Amino acid sequence: MELRFACPQCGTINRRPDADRLTILDCTECSYAGLIPDGWTEHGVVERCPICGCGEIFKQKDFQQRTGIIIALVGASFAVFTRFLSIFLAAVICGILYIASPERLVCYLCRTQVVGHRRTRAHRRFSARVAEKLRIDAGREPEPEDSRREIR
Ligand SMILES: [Zn+2]
Ligand SMILES: [Zn+2]
Repeated sequence: MELRFACPQCGTINRRPDADRLTILDCTECSYAGLIPDGWTEHGVVERCPICGCGEIFKQKDFQQRTGIIIALVGASFAVFTRFLSIFLAAVICGILYIASPERLVCYLCRTQVVGHRRTRAHRRFSARVAEKLRIDAGREPEPEDSRREIR
C-alpha cells in the first residue's frame, strides 16, 4: 500500500510505498516521526487513517485534475484545425483515463491518501454529512472534497 501524507509538523508531502510494513512514519524534510496506530489496516483493508487515527475515510478516483485540465487545453488549442474534433477526442481520453484510474482512500480530517489497499464496501464516497458531523465532533474544519491542499 502506498501512503501519501502531509507531514503534521512541516507540511511536506511524503510518499511511502511500503506503508503496510511500517510502524513509524518519519518525514524526509524535518525531524517528525509518528507512531502508526496499531490496526489501522487489517489484511489490506484500511480501517482508519494511519496519521491522525480518524475512522472516517472516503474513496475517490486516483485521477489528477491537473491531467484532465492539460488534456482539455490541448484539445481546445487544436479545435480550429480539427473542426472541433480534438475537443471531443480530449473528452473521450479524459473519460477513459478516469475510468481506468484506481481507487484511493482519503482521510476526512488530514487528507492522508492510501493507494493499493484492498477494496471493501465499507468505504463510501465523500459525504458532506459525514464531513459536517466531524466538524462538530472535532471542533475543527475538515477540508472540502476539492481541497486545494489535495496531495499530488
Ligand atoms: Zn516534516
Ligand atoms: Zn487523517
